Parts: sequence; structure tokens; C-alpha cells
Amino acid sequence: MGSAVETLKEWVEKSSNIVFFGGAGVSTESGIPDFRSTDGLYHQEYAYPPETILSHTFYRRKTEEFYRFYRNKMLYLQAQPNAAHLKLAQWEVQGKLKAVVTQNIDGLHQAAGSKKVFELHGSVLRNYCEDCRRFYDAEYILNSQGVPRCECGGTIKPDVVLYEEGLDMQVMRGAIEAISNADMLIIGGTSLVVYPAAGLIDYYRGNKLVLVNLAPTSRDSAADLVVTGKIGEVFSQL
Ligand code: NAD
Ligand code: ZN
Repeated sequence: MGSAVETLKEWVEKSSNIVFFGGAGVSTESGIPDFRSTDGLYHQEYAYPPETILSHTFYRRKTEEFYRFYRNKMLYLQAQPNAAHLKLAQWEVQGKLKAVVTQNIDGLHQAAGSKKVFELHGSVLRNYCEDCRRFYDAEYILNSQGVPRCECGGTIKPDVVLYEEGLDMQVMRGAIEAISNADMLIIGGTSLVVYPAAGLIDYYRGNKLVLVNLAPTSRDSAADLVVTGKIGEVFSQL
């Protein structure tokens, strides 16, 4: 076991108020590609970059094309939680972990059993009619063709925060409260370049800021501990 992992293990054992802040890298070991790794979505060829397709403007102007990308690249309904999701859920049951704050939209933390999850960017598992607000599940979207329509004829929109859209203030407030009260903040599987989400880690006031990531991030120098590796592999040693 690497010494950084050993230190992390000791800190986790002593802690009773951990908050985890994560991103797409938490789910790559579950088979869901992230955006910025070499095999991530930014390195695949599309007519437009993912950030453009997943924007509010694009959704409004080219809804059918948005959904073509979205069904192919954002809906992984067979994906299962990995060791990182499962360990976090276990820590919550043990009273060690107070909250998961995630940028992910895949619902895998809840699938692993986590209860207190702040989904900063929403969830692909929830979709609603823009006219009558009726809810639809992700299977409905996956099995629909073209632009998914409600029974009332309205367009169904995923409950996902697109680029150019604002974050839910209640979710933000809950995440900020959890992070500012945490004795330990573990940040994992995120490039920390998507704002305002990445800015939330600045609310942490403790002295156990841990980064678990495959690639370096801009925050490595500010961290109290940096663990380089795959988060599922790292967490299965804790
Ligand atoms: P990102 O793609 O920008 O960065 C992912 C980071 O995770 C990279 O630094 C990479 O080195 C690291 N990483 C990849 N696999 C890892 C692993 N197994 N262990 C440890 N680190 C690993 O992701 P981001 O920072 O979350 O920003 C992307 C945005 O796109 C987010 O807002 C998110 O909502 C969305 N997104 C979500 C999903 C999902 O829900 N699973 C997938 C793709 C993108
Ligand atoms: Zn409707």
C-alpha cells in the first residue's frame, strides 16, 4: 500500500465528519466515460464539442440532435456502482460521512445506498414535461425517438443542469453547509474546471483536504494530501 493511501486510511479512521466532493472520474470505473481523460468525450469526434451540445442554447435550437448525443453518451442505465460509491455509502451508515456532493448526473451514489447526496448538476434519472411538469424515467427517454414527448404533447427535458443554466440554490446551500462544517474533505475524480461547482471546495475550512485523482489538478498544491490513482482501486484499500 502506498504511503499516501495509508495516511488517507488513518485520517478516515479518525474522522467522523467527512464530506466527499466528486466528478465524472468517480464513475469511469463503472464504465461511464468522463469528459477530459484521453478516452473521455472531449477526445471523441462529434460535429460539435460536448460543451456546446450540452448547452441550453443548443438544447433549444437543435433539440433532436441534443437527444441523439444524450442517448448515446450520457445514458448508461446498466452501469453499476463501483468500490468508491460503495465505500462512501458504507461510511455514511457508519456515521463517518455527512454528505456526498457530486457533479455527476448518473445516480450511482444513490444506487450504492448513499442517502445524503447533493446533485449539483441534477440527474438523468429524472425528466419532466416542460408544459405540464409530469415526470418521466430515464428508460422512457432511452426508448423514445427523436425529441421525447409527453402525453400532453410537450417536450420532455432531463432534470440536468445544462451549460448556461443556473444551479439549484437549495442544493447549493446544502452542499455549502456540509462542506463548511466538514472536518475532512475528500475530492475525487474531478478536473475541478467546471464552475461554479468547483468553487464550492473553497468553503472548506479544515486541514484535511484530500485529492484522489488520476491526473494532476490545479488544486494539488493547496491539498494536504494528494493520492494519485484510480479512485475505485484507492477506496477499496481504505
Ligand atoms: P472531467 O471529465 O472534467 O474530469 C474527470 C477527472 O477525473 C479527470 O481529472 C481524470 O483524470 C479523473 N479520473 C478519471 N477516471 C478516474 C478514476 N478512475 N479515478 C480517479 N480519477 C479519475 O469531469 P468533471 O470534473 O466531473 O467535469 C465534467 C462535467 O461533466 C461535470 O459537470 C459532470 O456533471 C459531467 N459529467 C458527468 C458524468 C457522470 O454523471 N458520470 C460523466 C461525464 C460528464
Ligand atoms: Zn406534459
